[in-house]
Amino acid sequence: MMLMIKRILRKSPEDKQAQLEHERLTSLVNSMADGVLAIDENMEIVLSNGAALNILDVNSTLKGRRLGEVMYLEDRNKRKVDVEKLISGITTATTNRDLLLRYQDNSTLNLYLSIAPVHLGYGTAGQQGYVLLMRDITHEKSLEEERDEFISVVSHELRTPIAIAEGNISNALFIAEKTGDISQIKQALEEAHHQVVFLAEMINDLSTLSRAERGKLTVEVEDIDVPALIAELKTSYTPQATQKNLWLKAEVATDVKTLQSSSLYVREILQNFITNAIKYTEEGGVTIKAEPGQGGVRFLVIDTGIGISKGDQERIFDKFFRSEDYRTRKTNGTGLGLYVTMKLANLIHAEIDVQSELNKGSTFSCTLPIATEMVRH
Ligand code: ADP
Repeated sequence: MMLMIKRILRKSPEDKQAQLEHERLTSLVNSMADGVLAIDENMEIVLSNGAALNILDVNSTLKGRRLGEVMYLEDRNKRKVDVEKLISGITTATTNRDLLLRYQDNSTLNLYLSIAPVHLGYGTAGQQGYVLLMRDITHEKSLEEERDEFISVVSHELRTPIAIAEGNISNALFIAEKTGDISQIKQALEEAHHQVVFLAEMINDLSTLSRAERGKLTVEVEDIDVPALIAELKTSYTPQATQKNLWLKAEVATDVKTLQSSSLYVREILQNFITNAIKYTEEGGVTIKAEPGQGGVRFLVIDTGIGISKGDQERIFDKFFRSEDYRTRKTNGTGLGLYVTMKLANLIHAEIDVQSELNKGSTFSCTLPIATEMVRH
């Protein structure tokens, strides 16, 4: 008798095969990184995987629930989108990268949603349904937005100096043909040259930035002769300061001698500080200092310039940030210098600090430990 029951219960080879297939499919769907939902004609969820629960932020099973109750969508202009209406109108597979998924707590994520009408094979024969694939693309979207912003800021910033340089060169050519007045030609070429130098600096910043972002910067540690470095910076920047009627002083404490770090990056950080100090100072001048600090060396660039408001001080190291102050806006700049500076400082374990008072001046400092284990790539 027992034997008979066992025989009856034993599955046929076809059943076993089907069960195996089913298990394989289930484990495949469950191991997918994308959220998967299968919906029947009545917009009820008939299948979901773990990733779908994660994306929709639910911890109970979704089976049997209506799609519209668990998925609140909005378009890119934050207008509500009825997901059930969206899906029922679809006859061929479609994808959408412009949707926002809104949660109960009002937070959102950027959703990639692919919808495919399918024959589900659930319920009555011939029942139609849909398979939805979902992916959180918030990170990609913010990268895309950042890239678009980057291109628009950079092209805007490049346009002005190119237009001025072009105008001056045309002018020089015109004068050469008409009057040949050398002093006027010289003046126009000097202005064009000035703009081209600025363009070169900007392209330098951009290329350092791109290398820093791709983690391609290497750190070569060497002995830096601090007094020599400060003297050299003073010599290089004196013409720029003099041109604006500013003084440029250098002060090195007697006990500051050598420092082990990346000469290239220390120089680049200080150059960024000095360029800004001269650029954002209208009266007075700039002091470059080196003194002992935190067991190492602290470099300071002190200016008597326009200063930075408390609110702006928190944002000046952000990518593209430029103060709204009209005195900042009348200068050329990309808002990348301090962002790059911070990246370089992190590479060489330097600490950057800013103290500033609006209309009084700013002090940017960079403190380097005497000898550090540098990050080598
Ligand atoms: P950029 O100079 O190209 O605008 P930075 O990243 O070097 O970009 O600086 C970001 C912003 O910080 C500047 O636009 C300016 O508003 C402010 N800033 C930087 N240095 C100074 C300074 N020494 N004095 C006043 N404002 C400064």
